Amino acid sequence: MSLKVCKFGGTSMADAKAIRKVVGIISSDTRRRYVVVSAPGKRDKEDEKITDLLYGSCALARESGKCEKTFKKIRYRFTQIVKDLEINFEIEKELEQIEANINLHNNKHYAASRGEYLSALILAKILGWDFVDSKEIIKFALVNSSPELDTQVTDKEIAAKLKEIERAVIPGFYGSYTNHAGKKLLQDGEGGLVTFSRGGSDITGALVARAMKASVYENFTDVSGYYAADPKIVKEPRLISRVSYKELRELSYMGANVIHQDSIWPVQSAGIPINIKNTFALDDLEDGTMIMAEEKLPSHYNSFKGIVGIAGKKDFSVILIAKKMMNNKRGFCRTVLSVLEKHNISIDHIPSGIDTMSIVVANEQLKTVSEQKLLAELIAAVEPDTIRIDNSLALIAIVGRQMNSQITATVFNSLDDAAIKCRIIDQGSSPLNIIIGVDERNYERAIRAIYKAFFR
Ligand code: ASP
Repeated sequence: MSLKVCKFGGTSMADAKAIRKVVGIISSDTRRRYVVVSAPGKRDKEDEKITDLLYGSCALARESGKCEKTFKKIRYRFTQIVKDLEINFEIEKELEQIEANINLHNNKHYAASRGEYLSALILAKILGWDFVDSKEIIKFALVNSSPELDTQVTDKEIAAKLKEIERAVIPGFYGSYTNHAGKKLLQDGEGGLVTFSRGGSDITGALVARAMKASVYENFTDVSGYYAADPKIVKEPRLISRVSYKELRELSYMGANVIHQDSIWPVQSAGIPINIKNTFALDDLEDGTMIMAEEKLPSHYNSFKGIVGIAGKKDFSVILIAKKMMNNKRGFCRTVLSVLEKHNISIDHIPSGIDTMSIVVANEQLKTVSEQKLLAELIAAVEPDTIRIDNSLALIAIVGRQMNSQITATVFNSLDDAAIKCRIIDQGSSPLNIIIGVDERNYERAIRAIYKAFFR
């Protein structure tokens, strides 16, 4: 029988009521055999995430040697959950141990991992399933003195451990580093725990799905899936019911964030579809978003006039360089890029003309060096006729696997109708998208105009 791996996010684990829903979902399908969980998230907008409180506790322990003031909120949340669920679980003991370890070692990886750890223990208890600690199966190795996921070892460890276990709950977000040197580096009283970047429980779920050759990786969250545009900008946008891994990568790189970007490749390389579903809206007829290989997408999948969605981000700058006969000057681009490389600035796009070069970078990339210094260095390096940095650029990606000139025409007509000037165009470098840049002040209007042209 095919098996399913499920992952439940922080909102799904936020309190006893939500956890009961989770139990109902798991129990409704016996193919759901391996479940990965996040730490309890926010119960409402004003609430605090357990993971944030754990990071806060660690910082407090580092400053004052005692995390009690912040840790007591964590203690309250977990004891309340256990009490409301009426389970027989001595969470107090666990909490005491964790608090003592944070005070003693104030290791941020260890502290942050404890939310998922307790969440998984609680769920395993209610379901009567095994608890498998991620430190045994998610393995990191030291690369250039920092821990990086060791995918091959992890794949083997998960498969070896879980083949003996019929059903298990596994904490997301962390793993361990077992090499000797690493233990020293990450001393925490438990031995080399390592967390992924924020939202990393999605990665744990993907790794388990891959190692166990799941038929599907179900990712339960608090939204119904990916939308064709940001619901904060477009009113009631369409839900994307089917999307290819590659299209999703384009959309999520440009700001459509439902699951962690790094959770795509483990399942993509194994051809396992990801199904995003809403824990709190399962009665809806909607089946969430299914992310799958392009070849497997049904021909009628929801592509509107050739596109699947629109995403975008603000906070970009463009460095505009002009020099007569630039096209003849060998090494010009390389010299410009080496100045940026020296300052560790990574680049998003380089749309260029005959005598002009423009480099689009995220504003945060420019934090390492003052604009004045950067301009002075570029002037010294390539002696341009003119050079300037324009801030306040927003980028918008129009994504689909059938990009054609009609789509381009529709995009530009819609901008024209809305009297919005396009400052940058990047088309053709990816077969899956057109990227345009507009003034930040026109960002929302541009998205609405493009959305309307394709989807309404
Ligand atoms: N709890 C962690 C976070 O808040 C990881 C996760 O939820 O995926 O980032």
